[in-house]
Amino acid sequence: MSEVAEPSTALLAALAAILALPAVLAVVARPRRPRDVRRTVVVVSCEGCGYTEKRGYEQGLYVGMRLGACPRCGSDLRVDAIYEERVNPSKA
Ligand SMILES: [Zn+2]
Repeated sequence: MSEVAEPSTALLAALAAILALPAVLAVVARPRRPRDVRRTVVVVSCEGCGYTEKRGYEQGLYVGMRLGACPRCGSDLRVDAIYEERVNPSKA
């Protein structure tokens, strides 16, 4: 009597297929990126102690520009790099 029906196997297979479907669809249907927001960031670094800081870009900044004193050691802070980075909306 216990040999008659074994619905659990078929059920599990169906369940697995159903569960896997969204994952498969998510991978396949992903040509569009959610939101590709970019922002310009400025990396500021200290010549004295190696302190670095990332901040938002302000107009007029350029690489090599002096930005005042380091909060740690008082040496000159300089703009090290300016670049665009992608902002992940889900992270914020
Ligand atoms: Zn410093």
